[in-house]
Amino acid sequence: MHNKTRTKNHIETEAIRTQIERSQFLEHSNPLYLTSSYIFEDAEDMRASFADEKQRNIYSRYTNPNNSEFVDKVCRMEGAENGYAFATGMSAVFSTFAALLDSGDHIVSCQSIFGSTQTLFNNILPKWNISTSYFRINEIDRIESLIQPNTKILYAESPTNPAVDILDLTLLGDLAKKHNLIFIVDNCFATPYLQQPIKFGAHLVIHSATKLMDGQGRVLGGVTVGSSELIQKIYLFSRNTGPALSPFNAWILSKSLETLPVRVEKHCDNALKIAEFLEGHDKVNFVKYPFLKSHPQYQLAQNQMKLGGNVVAFEIKGGIDAGRNFLNAIQLLSLSANLGDTRSIVTHPASTTHAKLSEEDRLKTGITGGLIRVSVGLEHPEDIINDLNQALN
Ligand SMILES: *Cc1c(COP(=O)(O)O)cnc(C)c1O
Repeated sequence: MHNKTRTKNHIETEAIRTQIERSQFLEHSNPLYLTSSYIFEDAEDMRASFADEKQRNIYSRYTNPNNSEFVDKVCRMEGAENGYAFATGMSAVFSTFAALLDSGDHIVSCQSIFGSTQTLFNNILPKWNISTSYFRINEIDRIESLIQPNTKILYAESPTNPAVDILDLTLLGDLAKKHNLIFIVDNCFATPYLQQPIKFGAHLVIHSATKLMDGQGRVLGGVTVGSSELIQKIYLFSRNTGPALSPFNAWILSKSLETLPVRVEKHCDNALKIAEFLEGHDKVNFVKYPFLKSHPQYQLAQNQMKLGGNVVAFEIKGGIDAGRNFLNAIQLLSLSANLGDTRSIVTHPASTTHAKLSEEDRLKTGITGGLIRVSVGLEHPEDIINDLNQALN
C-alpha cells in the first residue's frame, strides 16, 4: 500500500517512478503478476496473514502487486492516503456508496452526473432505503436546504458530463466540513493532472480509469482514493464482494499513467483550438469549454483547474434533427460512447445517452436538442477541425 516515507516529486515524476519492488530479475519495466493466490512460509505465517497482522498479498481479490502499483500511483498523483482498484468506474462508484452507507442514509448530489450513477441513486440504492436529493448546477445556494439529519454524502463531478459546467469545489468542500458530510468527487473528466479535489476538501476521489487514465480505449477500470479510514471500509467491503480490477488491466493502466501528463496536456491544447474554431462558426449557437472566456464559470475553472480538459460541448443550430444530421456527416471522428481516447469522438446526447430522459429532465442537466459533445483526441487539430467544419456545413 501507499508508502508515505518516499519524497514527494512532481506529478509527472510520480506517474513514472511509482513502482512496486523489483523481482530478483531486476527488470526495468514492471512485470505482470498473473496469479490468483500467494503462498505462505508456514502455518504461523498463514495465520498471521489472515489475522491482518502482516501487510502482504493473500489472494488477488484482496490485493495483487499490479493493482497495488496502480493504486499507489493514483494516490501519489491525487495526494491521497490510500485506495482500492475496481473492474470498472461504475464498480468503484457502487462499491464506495455501498461500503459507506447504511439503510436510511441520504445523499445530496449534483443533478449533472454520469448516467449510470444517476440510475444507481434513483433505482438501485432505494432498494436498501437510501435516498438522494439533487441540486442543479446553478443552485449551489440551495444545497444547505437539502441536507437532512441522515445525510451522509455530498457528491459531485466537475467538469460535468456532457455540458462541461464547473462546480466550485472549495465551496462544496467547506459545506461538507460544516455539516460533517463525506465529500466525494468523480474526477474522471479532469484527471489528477488538471485538478486534485482532495486539496479542496474532498475525502474521496473516484475515477473511471477507462477514460483518460487508459487514454487509448483498451481496458475498463476504476479506482477510489482518499482518507485511509474510509478506504479501509471500502477495502473490506470489496475484498468480500469481489469487484477487484484484473491485474492485467492494472498493469496496462499503470503504464498508461506514465504518459497521462503529456497526453492530457496535448488533449487540452487540441480541445482549446477546437473550441475557438467552433465559437466562430455561423452554424453554432454556443460553445462550452471551461477555458474559453465565454464559459459562465471561466474564472472558477481558472482557479481550480490547470487546463480546460478534453471535452468540448456545443449547440448546433436546428435542434435534434440538426444534431442527427451532423453525426451522419462526420467522416474522420468516431461515433462512440467512450471518451478520453487518442481518437476524437462525437456524441449527440439528446438522441442517444440521454434519450430516455424527459425533455424537462434533459434541460435540467443542460442537454438541449442540438447539443454535441466532442471528446477531443490526439489527432492533428487541423484534421479534427476540417471534419467538424465539413459536417457542420
Ligand atoms: C465513464 C464514466 C463512469 C463509469 O465508468 P466505467 O468505467 O464506464 O464503468 C463514471 N463517471 C464518469 C464521469 C464517467 O465518465
